[in-house]
Amino acid sequence: AIPLSFFSGIGASSKIGVLIKGSNYLEVLAGVKTFMFDKTGTLTKGVFEVVSIHPNNISEEELIKKAAMAEEYSSHPIAVSIKNAYKEFEEESSRIDFSDRLSDLKEIAGQGISIKVDDELLFVGNDKLMISNNINFEKCSDFGTIVYVAKEDVFLGSIVINDRIKEDAKEVLMALKNTGVEKNIMLTGDIKEVADFVASELSVDYVYSELLPQDKVDKVEEVLDENSVLAFVGDGINDAPVLARADIGIAMGGIGSDAAIEAADVVIMDDNLGNIVRGIKLAKRTMSIAK
Ligand code: ADP
Ligand code: MG
Repeated sequence: AIPLSFFSGIGASSKIGVLIKGSNYLEVLAGVKTFMFDKTGTLTKGVFEVVSIHPNNISEEELIKKAAMAEEYSSHPIAVSIKNAYKEFEEESSRIDFSDRLSDLKEIAGQGISIKVDDELLFVGNDKLMISNNINFEKCSDFGTIVYVAKEDVFLGSIVINDRIKEDAKEVLMALKNTGVEKNIMLTGDIKEVADFVASELSVDYVYSELLPQDKVDKVEEVLDENSVLAFVGDGINDAPVLARADIGIAMGGIGSDAAIEAADVVIMDDNLGNIVRGIKLAKRTMSIAK
């Protein structure tokens, strides 16, 4: 039989906005030794701002417009920021609907987008996307996340965007250590320079960057092989496989995708990282009452 205190533990956690999908996860949560975080949207706000635009034989506005058209159907935080930047460029643009000019959309996880606008094939994404499509591009070495844009095999330029670290992220990572967590790890598909900067600001113990979704699953499996109790925390855009694989998958419910909320064992309803610490403390208290 399930001790009654488990039910009150789940009830109490739901009151603070932590949805736990079963009493067994309280026990797992109480004993987590390794925390693994996705960067974008989890430790950072996932709200990017365009900081510079480097067009190549095209105007800045045309470059942003092409990128915004390509990102029309994407809900990735990068896509949202590019569409917002285009709206600022051209007030009218929010009313222009280009959806009937778009076809053949491919969203390549960890790389970006390819899509046809009229008869032109556009590529918008990182250096991996350019390389895998044999596009001769000019590498941008600005600090930030670099979004490269190409039309067919013609390089059109790059857009540099920047995200911000969540104000409470550092404090939360430290508080986790105080509850008995031994290691904090950060995983990201973003470039090394940005990942290393965020990791050092937050003093995470290990950082792995430029990962494709499958590489993230491999990292999860490495930790599971060490027999450490592992929690993975993600916002969900293509995190569902790792959320499901970890001993306990924690999804940010606010901006997280439906697939991630579905795959997760614990959902933080308001994206408040501090609620992870509160959830662990509650779980530990519940376990000590149950014993
Ligand atoms: P993270 O691990 O930080 O959440 P993702 O795996 O979602 O990152 O994406 C990794 C990288 O792939 C991004 O940093 C970006 O360079 C590229 N990318 C993914 N989706 C898009 C998109 N819709 N538009 C442009 N670039 C994208
Ligand atoms: Mg992500």
